[in-house]
Amino acid sequence: MAETAILPNLIGGRTLAPSASETLPVFNPATGEILSRIPLSGAEDVGRAVASAKEALRDWRETPPTDRVQPLFRLKALLERDFEELSRCVTTECGKTLAESRGELRRAIENVEVACGIPSLMQGRVLEDIARGIDELMIRQPVGVVAVIAPFNFPAMIPFWFLPYALACGNTVVMKPSEKTPLTMQRVAALIEEAGFPPGVVQVTHGGQAAVEALLDHPDVAAVSFVGSSPVARVVYARAAGNGKRVQCQGGAKNPVVVLEDADVEAAVSTVAESAFGCAGQRCLAASLAITVGDAHAPFRERVSAVAASRVVGSGLDESVDMGPVIRDESRHRIERLIGVAVDEENASAVVDGRGVRIPGHEDGFFVRPTVLDELPAEGEIARTEIFGPVLGIIRVDSVEDAIAFVNGGEFGNMACVFTNDGRAARRFRHEVLTGNVGINVGVAAPMAFFPFSGWRGSFFGDLHAQGAHAIEFYTQTKVVVERWPRDASKRF
Ligand code: NAD
Repeated sequence: MAETAILPNLIGGRTLAPSASETLPVFNPATGEILSRIPLSGAEDVGRAVASAKEALRDWRETPPTDRVQPLFRLKALLERDFEELSRCVTTECGKTLAESRGELRRAIENVEVACGIPSLMQGRVLEDIARGIDELMIRQPVGVVAVIAPFNFPAMIPFWFLPYALACGNTVVMKPSEKTPLTMQRVAALIEEAGFPPGVVQVTHGGQAAVEALLDHPDVAAVSFVGSSPVARVVYARAAGNGKRVQCQGGAKNPVVVLEDADVEAAVSTVAESAFGCAGQRCLAASLAITVGDAHAPFRERVSAVAASRVVGSGLDESVDMGPVIRDESRHRIERLIGVAVDEENASAVVDGRGVRIPGHEDGFFVRPTVLDELPAEGEIARTEIFGPVLGIIRVDSVEDAIAFVNGGEFGNMACVFTNDGRAARRFRHEVLTGNVGINVGVAAPMAFFPFSGWRGSFFGDLHAQGAHAIEFYTQTKVVVERWPRDASKRF
């Protein structure tokens, strides 16, 4: 793609040059090279996209569910056909390794598979004879035009937490990919067309804050699905809800993993390191704090530091690399600044310090190496701040009670994990922690497509989460019919 290419918006089955003149560069974070530019679409472009979605809604919602899933089956086949090309696209614009990109694309496809069950999943309920000769039915109908607003870190998977379910339920969609990683969805949009979805059923509108605000304010948008940082999620939730829309907003995280004294340290270390440093820590389920209980501290610190220091960092396209770059140079600076705050102001000890890296051959890339901060004060800023980089803080506590109290004292509630061989301690942890996703001897407790992605507290604003049965609930409105057919004496029945 030429450096100056500007991605068009995709509206009504056609590519449309946006009215916006302002653009943003899309970088390859491993090289610093500009891959493309995206338009910063505004209210006018969003208005066109929503009008197109509204127009397409009339026929799409009347299309039988058994017919609506046929293009979804074809989309699955196309995603499988182009699996490697799409994985490379994710790695090129997002930086993660090819193995990580393949993993996220697999999760995207799983969501298509689950949504293909819509003729069963979308069924309502009937109770005959709620009173003599009277029946009551609950049916599900689509909500209308749905806006999907995505973050940068899973450009293939996160849009698929929403898109297949919204479409299968009979809604039409305006997708706003991240301005930092828009290329994968652009490629997917071509597959959506090839799969045979009618024009206007899916639009892709590129942009940033202004495009999001236009979607939140548009009277013809019925529902908003958002994933991003908590400060933005909070604002999006309030604005969309204030405008009377149905809204679900998944936010940020600071995920603690608790290592008990009886845990298998080797297994815990390799699992926690993968969680903390995989995707360069840019994952909402990344372990960012290891809470060691009692004597678990010394062996855990020693082994995790060795694993962190030995991780091979470089371009994600190189299959021998364990960890790619972070998304932007500003992210690198922010992460390095926060490590500096931990060390210089909070007296943490950087047992492995990933600042100031230059990768030979990738001198202009945005790299931070894995970092381990021991003796991080539990009440300090860094123990409470989402760093969103490959940084693991270690906090020492004396008991499981203290560990659970720490988990529950934080702002976020996305995930907490425990490493132990004690079933009773694990059961207590699972029962008492105030997070929506829990791992027991698992470092990334990512729910499969048929379970809800259950963030709690400061990590989620709304009622119904992404994926599975929650998605069906979110993208349909229930209608209850009470029905009586009085007897006609002139007829036999
Ligand atoms: P972000 O909040 O910067 O952006 C997310 C989306 O919001 C983008 O599409 C962006 O264009 C838009 N946006 C940004 N600022 C806005 C504003 N002021 N008003 C309206 N819209 C705005 O997030 P990001 O940096 O792209 O993604 C990383 C964040 O997402 C992290 O905090 C991470 O934890 C979170 N995340 C959460 C989950 C989850 O399931 N809970 C999953 C992935 C990522």
